Amino acid sequence: MTASELIDCIVRLFSERGNKEYHGEAVNQLEHALQAATLAERDGQAPSLIVAALLHDIGHMLHDWGEHCAIQGIDDYHEQLAARFLETGFGPEVIEPIRLHVAAKRYLTATRAGYYESLSEASRLSLRLQGGPMTPNEVQIFEAQPYYMSAVTLREYDDQAKVIDMRTPSLTHFRRYLEAASSGR
Ligand code: FE
Repeated sequence: MTASELIDCIVRLFSERGNKEYHGEAVNQLEHALQAATLAERDGQAPSLIVAALLHDIGHMLHDWGEHCAIQGIDDYHEQLAARFLETGFGPEVIEPIRLHVAAKRYLTATRAGYYESLSEASRLSLRLQGGPMTPNEVQIFEAQPYYMSAVTLREYDDQAKVIDMRTPSLTHFRRYLEAASSGR
């Protein structure tokens, strides 16, 4: 698949499955993705991080295991699914923060006071399935990953992107970043 075919595929996925519930939250997958990307754009982040924010949960739309995996006690490993799906069109600056965004939650729970308390109920539930807070050894390994800081920033947008009726640009607006982040591939 070429990068531009992949982008078409991403746009189609959002239009066909974007109304899928965002595991137990008040927003759907498309709203969650647009909110995260909007927050990254407002902060003046690089196209790669705006795209990572937009696509971080695309893995949830790539499987048919139902919309309440965490509630059913199943971790869907959506970050791994996304990383494999995006491989042909994007580089590590997009893929690595996505692949690490679940680990980033475990990291922040272990290292940032008050972070766990700030999480939504659904996010606390999935944290348990994802392995809970990192151990000191896991924290060290995480901090050795080249894109761990981007993953932490992405995580912060992810956690905030659950607002009912937040105004955001449409997916069409973000297509330019998809194209910029995949250029030359
Ligand atoms: Fe998310």
